[in-house]
Amino acid sequence: MKFFVDAMLGNIAKKLRLFGYDTEYYSDIDDSELIRKSKNEQRIIISKDKQLVDQGAKNGIISVYISEDKEIEQFLEIINKIDLKLDEISGENARCPKCNSTTSQIDKSKIKNDIPQGVLDFNEKFWKCNDCNQIYWEGTHIKNLQNFVKKVNSQS
Ligand SMILES: [Zn+2]
Repeated sequence: MKFFVDAMLGNIAKKLRLFGYDTEYYSDIDDSELIRKSKNEQRIIISKDKQLVDQGAKNGIISVYISEDKEIEQFLEIINKIDLKLDEISGENARCPKCNSTTSQIDKSKIKNDIPQGVLDFNEKFWKCNDCNQIYWEGTHIKNLQNFVKKVNSQS
């Protein structure tokens, strides 16, 4: 399952990437280009723009309209429309929230000069983006996401 998320929903795009879903997101792209790319790459469109969602549907693209403003409710709208699995969260699957590339686990000893000591002390697992080199760790990214999923699941 791959996604194209519209410019107003950057928070959703980042979370989908952390869940491991290939998610395109541009702050500046016109609707026809977004539709064309989504169709070519078989991406599901997620948008707050009703017109764009209708246009996507007309082009045979699965398109999810987001009417809510809160993140949890927005995810519930997505889950209600498509069979999105949010139960397996791990750094192994996560994509870089900044650039959508895959990440690889990296040995703690290799990054000890790049990461604050407090973070090194409290985390064992680290991942590095294969493209932009951003470093991630379980404490912030994965645990926040697990808490988020618990909230979503308790309301669905
Ligand atoms: Zn990256």
